[in-house]
Amino acid sequence: MTTFPLDQATQWVQDFGSPLYVYDAATIERQYHRITGAFDTSIDLGIHYACKALNNINVLKLMKSLGAGLDAVSMGEVHLGLRAGFSPEEILFTPNGVGMSEIREAAQIGVQINIDNLETLEEFANEFGNSIPVCVRINPHIMAGGNAKISVGHIDSKFGISIHQVRHLHRIVNNMGLHVHGLHMHTGSDILDIDAFMRGASLLMDLAHDFKELTYIDFGSGFKVGYRPDESTTDIETFGTKMSARFQDFCLEYGRDLKLIFEPGKFLVSESGIFLTTVNSTKTTPSTVFAQVNSGFNHFPRPMLYDAYHHIENVSNPEGEQRIYTVVGYICETDTFGYDRKIAEVRSGDVLAFHNAGAYCSSMASNYNSRVRPAEVMIIDGHAQLIKARETFEDLMVGQIELDAFSQEKPEAEALLVPSEV
Ligand SMILES: *Cc1c(COP(=O)(O)O)cnc(C)c1O
Repeated sequence: MTTFPLDQATQWVQDFGSPLYVYDAATIERQYHRITGAFDTSIDLGIHYACKALNNINVLKLMKSLGAGLDAVSMGEVHLGLRAGFSPEEILFTPNGVGMSEIREAAQIGVQINIDNLETLEEFANEFGNSIPVCVRINPHIMAGGNAKISVGHIDSKFGISIHQVRHLHRIVNNMGLHVHGLHMHTGSDILDIDAFMRGASLLMDLAHDFKELTYIDFGSGFKVGYRPDESTTDIETFGTKMSARFQDFCLEYGRDLKLIFEPGKFLVSESGIFLTTVNSTKTTPSTVFAQVNSGFNHFPRPMLYDAYHHIENVSNPEGEQRIYTVVGYICETDTFGYDRKIAEVRSGDVLAFHNAGAYCSSMASNYNSRVRPAEVMIIDGHAQLIKARETFEDLMVGQIELDAFSQEKPEAEALLVPSEV
């Protein structure tokens, strides 16, 4: 859950409007240092921020200032990273299912390229020979917990080169003379079972002995945060201790110290964010009381997309009597943020805070229903600063090309007969 104080939340809404995403820079820093502090100091540790979680340029710059690298899954993210000041070498490009044109562009820029398909690897080798080193993404088929939709390590997954294809991988690498500098895995979100994760990591380290030119191993992410009050999270300190020992042993056997990389998204930013909405109305039906807020899954998609729980509290009336609400949005289809939530009495105009709004909220927001996207604010040294302006109607028209073919001069009286809403 979000841990920074919300006593100024209604003030932020007054100052910047609603709905509003608010991120706390200090929480991001704390999470970053929790990870780096969990590993033995003798290890050459790299933290690559997976910026699909939250892609505001200021967040990327903050990560850069903390010493992070970047995990990018699209060329858009690569360019964002460059704009934020990351050097190409600090960016690992991990696409899935993209064509050579994208990989070619990445190669030209000089970012590190992570390939997760044998066919693509062959194409890459045909085009670039051994002039550019690569990283290969292995799927160890380990499930370490989590939601089926966000777990990517299972046997039916489209991600990675299966660990059962390693002989074929070696054939390609050896025949083409490819320089493999990195091995990578990312088994998806929500590691609860550290030992299961360690088994996957061990498979990767076993494999690594057959690649003599490695400079790093990237174990992806999936570090879990708590969404519900008292929900268990990845015990990062225990994990760091175990992983440090295992990796040090590995490096001794390998004969050289390699860099140990992780690429967390959610763990770094989820708890740093809060999403503030305003209650438009309450509505009592035969079965429940709805609290209807001025937002929807267009801004905050995880509940509808993943059945995710996000804790909701009434920051305008914290001492109010607890009642049961179903909190819904204004999108014209089922749009539920939470069922049967116990919330301090909700009145029109109250500000509701949605917790864990840092990761996969604004970065997944859309303009569905022709709704503009909210402003974003960052708390830096106790001061709330605008880091993204609220969109306007004109933003909805950006890129739309109005053809003459459909333009008609309508007599005013006739135009009035056109229903304004269907
Ligand atoms: C999304 C993603 C991550 C980050 O996952 P989190 O669960 O947010 O930590 C890391 N690596 C890759 C390749 C990803 O696609």
